[in-house]
Parts: sequence; C-alpha cells; structure tokens
Amino acid sequence: MAESTALVIGAGSLGGPAALVMAGAGVGRLLLADGAITGPADLSAQPALAEADVGRPRAAALAGRVARLFPEVACEAVEAPRAPGLLAALVARADVVVHASADAEVAFAANDAALAAGKPLVHGGVIALSAQVLSVVPGQTGCLRCLFEGPPPGGPAPGQEAPILGPLAGLAGSLMGQEAVRLLSGLAATYGGRLLTYGARAGQGRLVPVRRRPGCPACGAGGAAPSEPPGSPPAAPGAA
Ligand SMILES: [Zn+2]
Repeated sequence: MAESTALVIGAGSLGGPAALVMAGAGVGRLLLADGAITGPADLSAQPALAEADVGRPRAAALAGRVARLFPEVACEAVEAPRAPGLLAALVARADVVVHASADAEVAFAANDAALAAGKPLVHGGVIALSAQVLSVVPGQTGCLRCLFEGPPPGGPAPGQEAPILGPLAGLAGSLMGQEAVRLLSGLAATYGGRLLTYGARAGQGRLVPVRRRPGCPACGAGGAAPSEPPGSPPAAPGAA
C-alpha cells in the first residue's frame, strides 16, 4: 500500500473524505487535483478544510491538511487539472483513479482516461439528496458510458458547484476511499459494475447493475456481454 499512488480528481466534499480514508489506510502517495479556490461553503461541506483555508487553492489546502495528519503520506496538489494533456499524465502515474468532482464532463473524461490507461476508477457523486458510487474495472465491468452516453446537457458551468449535503457527501467520499483501498489491496471491488445509490431522505440504498454495453466507445466491450438497460436509471453524474 505504501508504494501505491492514488489520483483524486476533486478536493471538495467527496475528495476530502476519500483522501483522508486512503491516507489513513497507508496509501503512499496522493495526487490531489482541483482547480477551485476554497470558499465558505466548503467549510460546511467537508471537515478536512478550515476557515484559514478560505481563499487558498482547495487542492493545496487539502494536501496540507492530509500531510499534517499523515506525515508519511506524500501529497501533491495539482491546481490546474484542466491543462491539456495533464489528466492522462496524472492517470499514468496512478494505480487507482478516484473521481470526486461535481463536473459531469470531468467524470466522463476521468472514465475515458482511466480505461485508456487500464487503471481502475472509483466514481462518486452527490445530486441533491442522493449519493452515488460506482467502480469501473477495465476489462471486467461496465463504465460510465455504458450507463450514460455522455454528460447531460445544461449542467453547471465549469467551476460552478451546486450546494450539497456535507454529511451525505462524507458518506459517499468515505466509501470511495475505502473502495480505492480495496482495489489497491487486490481485493474485489464492492461497487464494480454495481452503481450504489443512497437516498438520504428515505434512508435507503440500492445497487443498480451496470452491464457492459456492446459498442461502448470507452470500455470497448464490443458485444462481449449482453446489454440490459437498468430498470430506472439514476440521474447522470454531476447533474446537480
Ligand atoms: Zn463502457
């Protein structure tokens, strides 16, 4: 585990708890990618950031917090993750990719980059009062594009994030961190090919099968597995 590198895309309310779980489990290196500046809303959305971080880049603030709590973990802040070619370069350095941003376009870009590099992806998101977690294991499970063909139109502009329920994001982010640790340990993914949706209002979770879609442009199932659309698809990632 100490030799492993995890890329966390998004240092907000999901990425913060995910990073803390992975650091606590002994992941050796964390690449924390986020282009946002810490705002007051971040303080209620996640416990990893403090008032003194407001106005600072969120990636650096989270990296500093994790490094103070876990000095043996190498933390690297990436503050311009949208730079051309950078995503692929970061994925190439990682053993697991954790997508924790609220941007649907970034979610699909992470999906595609992880699959192209043959790296497992743990995706998570929170939309209103619903949390989602899905793992994509190259060559084994369906991917985000098997579930949705692409980002929904009319999503938030890049850099804009809808307010979300911090404790719900904390739950999803913690599960994402634990899932990444499982993958790095060589254990089977709990959410591989199974989208967990948890509704905070009803307090109920369910698992939606994500089968490989023949002809999927990202995971290239090529008709290897039968495709069935999920019964009632949950909202697309990052649609808040
Ligand atoms: Zn796919």
